[in-house]
Amino acid sequence: MCQICRRSFIRGAAALGAAGATELLSSPLMAQAVDTGASKLPPRGEFTIANAYVMTMDGALGDIAGGSVHVRNGEIVAVGKDIAGGGEKIDGTGMIVMPGIVETHWHMWNTIFRSFAGDRLEEGYFPTVARFGQQMSPDDIFQSTRLSAAEAINSGMTFVHSWCHNVRSTAHAEADISALAEVGIRARHSCGWPQGVPDTQSADQAPIESLARDWKSWSNDGLITLGMAWRGQFRAGPIKPEVYQPEFDNARKLALPITVHVASAHKAVNQIEPLYKAKLMGKDVQLIHTLSANAAELDMIKESGCSVSVSPGSELRIGYGYPQIGEMLAKGIPLGISVDTSALTGSSNLFGVLKLARDSENAKAESEFKMTARKALELGTIEGARSMGLDDRIGSLTPGKRADLIAISPNTLNMAVVTDPAHLVLEATAAENVDTVVVDGRILKARGKLVAVDTPKVIAGARAALAGVRERTKWR
Ligand SMILES: [Zn+2]
Repeated sequence: MCQICRRSFIRGAAALGAAGATELLSSPLMAQAVDTGASKLPPRGEFTIANAYVMTMDGALGDIAGGSVHVRNGEIVAVGKDIAGGGEKIDGTGMIVMPGIVETHWHMWNTIFRSFAGDRLEEGYFPTVARFGQQMSPDDIFQSTRLSAAEAINSGMTFVHSWCHNVRSTAHAEADISALAEVGIRARHSCGWPQGVPDTQSADQAPIESLARDWKSWSNDGLITLGMAWRGQFRAGPIKPEVYQPEFDNARKLALPITVHVASAHKAVNQIEPLYKAKLMGKDVQLIHTLSANAAELDMIKESGCSVSVSPGSELRIGYGYPQIGEMLAKGIPLGISVDTSALTGSSNLFGVLKLARDSENAKAESEFKMTARKALELGTIEGARSMGLDDRIGSLTPGKRADLIAISPNTLNMAVVTDPAHLVLEATAAENVDTVVVDGRILKARGKLVAVDTPKVIAGARAALAGVRERTKWR
């Protein structure tokens, strides 16, 4: 797909009348670009969700039974029991209203391979993704990320961290960002390396430099930020400094946040200490997994100011072991929870992953009471936002913050009753319960239906992309 066409379509669509759009589409180059529709996002209006059970996740405001949330021009204006409200009134009776769920590391580009990781070594996650990934066009990335972003909104996530480690060209990165923009989700795009590049070769810096130069025009009105997905010092084996250092230095030069896997394929090798000694940690660096961190390394994470993202859904599935959630929280390390990859986890619903986070802590401690449901929900909201450096804007229903929120309806067989709200939300919320989703004041899901996403088109696009990649890789 021609990224310039896609881009100019996004920019131009709002200004064009129907005749202009038809003219554009008569060009064969533009034929596919009709898929992009950032201009279809609903406006940021004014509304008040009234008479709901409001879980603000704000320490000072707490939970408010029979509460209201007033939103205007993308901002939370007021939260409380007796506020005046304004704009359209949305009846929240029987609903639980809370901040949107914050996701912190997700390879959205490979969601078209959902549940494709098999049961034999050669069908495992890494060989599968490497083989397929090398055959992906920019449009395949677009279809996969759009599917992910639509699923995210549908299941109550309002922020995602698109960890894009298949940037085969600038157009591939732009396709990932275009998909995020079209769906209207708040996001970080972390621009990485292409699948299949040898670990003896530095990643091409042209894509990230191109994006950074012109980021304002890609940011979807500030909803999307840019970061670097960095390979780090270890992949299948150690990577040499002359390979990894220029990548890291470039991210720092561009003043971009850095994110890096510290996986557990080398449990015998301490991977955090070498990062620390090489001065490759800091407040601008997010570490992922870090399951094998020893006590000294946990101190290094704390001292350096790094945040951490853990993904119990994929970590348990792939056999990495249990994340060190309790240990990190005890040290005060900023911590977020993540999907990681739908190729391993199937469903990307982060409520399910948050439940696994709580359950894995309780399992390790052999205690029903090690981690509270409320703490798990904090990890999915305000603490996740803090770990991404966004807690001044999102993560709680606090007046002055941006309006990223969801309303959960328990009026289904899998919920039906409201007992303890925090436990119920953590343990039972499915996508079908997510009635309303608001991102930056835009209502993207209402009465259980996606407003700005053409779901059949998203599904058809993802299926066609997978079919094409399977054909090109001769994978039967
Ligand atoms: Zn990952």
